[in-house]
Amino acid sequence: MAKSVARSGRGSGAEASSPLANHTPMMQQYLRIKSAHADALLFYRMGDFYELFFDDAERASRLLDITLTARGQSNGAPIPMAGVPFHAVDQYLAKLVRLGETVAICEQTGDVATAKGPVERKVVRIVTPGTLTDAGLLDARRDNLLVALAFDGQQAGIAALNLAAGRITLLQVGQARVATELQRLSPGEMLVSEPMRDKFADPSNASAAVVRALPPWHFSSDQGRLALTKQLGVIDLAAFGCEDVPLAVAACGALLWYATTTQQSALTHVRNVVVERPSEFLRLDPATRRNLELTSTLRGESAPTLLSLLDTTVTAGGARLLRTWLSSPLRDHAASGERHASVAELTLGHGIDAIRTLLRSTADIERIAARIALRTARPRDLSGLRDTLVKLPVVADALQSLQSPLWRHARSNLAVPPLLTDLLARSIAAEPSAALREGGVIAEGYDSELDELRMIATDSGAFLLAMEARERARTGIANLKVEFNRVHGFYIEVTNAQSTKVPADYRRRQTLKNAERYITPELKAFEDKALSAQERSLSREKFLFEALLDTLEGSIPSLQRAANALSTMDVLATFAERAQTLDWHAPEMSPLPGIEIRRGRHPVVEAQVDHFVANDIELSPHARRLVILTGPNMGGKSTYMRQTAIIVLLASIGSFVPAASARIGSIDAIYTRIGSADDLAGGRSTFMVEMTEAAAILNSATPQSLVLIDEIGRGTSTFDGLALAWAIARHLAHRNQCLALFATHYFELTGLAKELPACVNAHFDAAEFKDHRGQQIVFLHEVAAGPASRSYGLQVARLAGVPGDALKQAQKYLSALEANASAKDPQTDLFSMDVCVSASSPATDLEVSAKALLDALRAIDPDVMSPREALDALYVLKAQFADP
Ligand code: ADP
Repeated sequence: MAKSVARSGRGSGAEASSPLANHTPMMQQYLRIKSAHADALLFYRMGDFYELFFDDAERASRLLDITLTARGQSNGAPIPMAGVPFHAVDQYLAKLVRLGETVAICEQTGDVATAKGPVERKVVRIVTPGTLTDAGLLDARRDNLLVALAFDGQQAGIAALNLAAGRITLLQVGQARVATELQRLSPGEMLVSEPMRDKFADPSNASAAVVRALPPWHFSSDQGRLALTKQLGVIDLAAFGCEDVPLAVAACGALLWYATTTQQSALTHVRNVVVERPSEFLRLDPATRRNLELTSTLRGESAPTLLSLLDTTVTAGGARLLRTWLSSPLRDHAASGERHASVAELTLGHGIDAIRTLLRSTADIERIAARIALRTARPRDLSGLRDTLVKLPVVADALQSLQSPLWRHARSNLAVPPLLTDLLARSIAAEPSAALREGGVIAEGYDSELDELRMIATDSGAFLLAMEARERARTGIANLKVEFNRVHGFYIEVTNAQSTKVPADYRRRQTLKNAERYITPELKAFEDKALSAQERSLSREKFLFEALLDTLEGSIPSLQRAANALSTMDVLATFAERAQTLDWHAPEMSPLPGIEIRRGRHPVVEAQVDHFVANDIELSPHARRLVILTGPNMGGKSTYMRQTAIIVLLASIGSFVPAASARIGSIDAIYTRIGSADDLAGGRSTFMVEMTEAAAILNSATPQSLVLIDEIGRGTSTFDGLALAWAIARHLAHRNQCLALFATHYFELTGLAKELPACVNAHFDAAEFKDHRGQQIVFLHEVAAGPASRSYGLQVARLAGVPGDALKQAQKYLSALEANASAKDPQTDLFSMDVCVSASSPATDLEVSAKALLDALRAIDPDVMSPREALDALYVLKAQFADP
């Protein structure tokens, strides 16, 4: 559910009621900093803890389940306080960010030793749901986007920042398409101007993102252009193709302002701007993405879905790219064809496993590059990067024999400057510690000053041995020991039995059970020297590490290219592996309109059943534009329709497809009207949802669209429903002229095949047989030409466990109805009849027909019909009610 964050936000709860001067100096500092970050939780560093105060403390204690305490008094009242230890901060941040909170991290930046009053503190970064880059806070296998929206009249500009990848995407669309694009991008956080906040805070908005409202001036096109040219380091944007997306550029102004402010960084790695044209992608509206269960099941689970079946990627970057490709199917056949060719080339050879094995051990270069730019990279990021860079030439070698353009492109992008590999190999320890403050990060031999300091800090062995020998001789204590441990530092240990011999200059440091530990002025002086050397060596390491990040920053573009090459290889190799494992074949992307699939399967259903029955389908603009599908519930209609859409989709993302062969013509969109879930949160009934989705399709589908309608008109009275279904099917065929599959229980619709030249009937059948349990039914799951002969409703009801008594009653009633109906039309669908009669006195044929006729007439509105439509309607009424 969308979550709106007010800019005015929460106060600290203290400022309003009291002048600053009444607080302690530290609280004054806190309140000053807090006032600049009113809508964030302020994590205020105090020693080893981040503390929260006042309202923030109460809120955090609730959200994080941490203890709420009080700290002394300030301005005459106890201060509510809650805190988290600094070394465990990531886990708390992760939880808060998941809850949509923003956290301002305030560090001690002054020198504690020399500070008069509270040590200087500063907010060093702001952690928000859309701007995460820390490995601990991000889902490794999913991109996280910050999106800004700008509006003008009927147009909307969308700017999306993938901070962890250093990439901005711009696009401009009609307002009606914003929800579709938001669902496709699936951002973690959205920025809108204040007047738009309520619209996007509405739970029915298509995204689950946190919504943040900024003052409108952040969304001006001038500011956007300035911000973007500055970000890209260019004088104008001509080279980036942004001229015709001014609103997206305007949105980008807000985006960049917000990202640089929260990161307190110039975002030097964000150099990549892509302008997307909505027409590049096959359009999938939110309902279609949901209905086809691409990344989430209808129940909201992540498996079994198309993505869960496809995603055997071996790298996190590959998983992210696959998800992006899946949400952005390409309309350009040349582009999808390039991917098919690469997959085909790999499946022909035996390279799939070898490539995947190499990829498996690579680090997530894309995200490491972002952390280098943001100065949040950790030692193990750099050792991981080093180990990966060393492997890149081997990976490139594995591609040597592959000639398709995408493989060649990947191969050339893997070429990272050897100097970089060499620098990392020399500078980073083989196995650096996790945190820089622990030391042991910079390799030996990289910096002589560091080596020297380390020697002093650690090479105390010789000194200790010499001193031990001297002290033994001086005191006559033969078992005297001079030693060091991390907790207590240096000491001379003397057992209790020898304590009388201890000289006067020994000072007691620690008492053990059988011994005492001492320190002498000489040993203390050595300890100070060693410890200061250790301190200095740590600060030298920090300096060297930061200098290293500065150097690496210059290579970020080549790291990003290599990362992209690895991810692309991973996805293409995954397509190849899936094709081999699941017996998928290369589709043919055709310039001719229509779709022709031989032995197609629904890949997700296939994985769940013992034996999947493959089916053909052919849709073509002239002869087979509208297929009316009939047949029993559970017969396989939905599966058949969805598999058609999924095969088109898979072909368009560059994958092979679950079919013996598939010829896919140009398709601009897939629309679906499937299922009948109430949108209770959005306050819409089943019927309203159904009609809204149908309206969207009728208003948008073109002759190149693939439309799936699975039952329409069932949420209202039978005749209303029938009339609507009939009119919608005709509208699709006549007006939209799209390629449509229309599954229905209204048998009357099978009559359309006679009336409309491009309309055909197809059906699924069931077979009945008798065994020891009585009459049984099996679904054949095989599509066949023509309309279904019957509905098998009672048989399905039996399977579902409807009690025998009720079924008997139904059977009796059905027989009576059939007897009546057969007098008129042997194929009338009995399930569509809204007859209100008791089992003992079924309505007469005439009564039923009269009611049907009345309902059909009521559904007609002559004022909105063209003369041709009116004439058509008259023909249909005549055919249905007056023809013998
Ligand atoms: P309908 O839409 O006609 O009610 P569905 O398409 O929902 O039927 O199919 C019902 C069930 O039948 C599916 O969940 C699946 O288990 C099985 N099924 C459907 N199509 C096939 C097929 N082609 N081969 C094997 N099983 C199938």
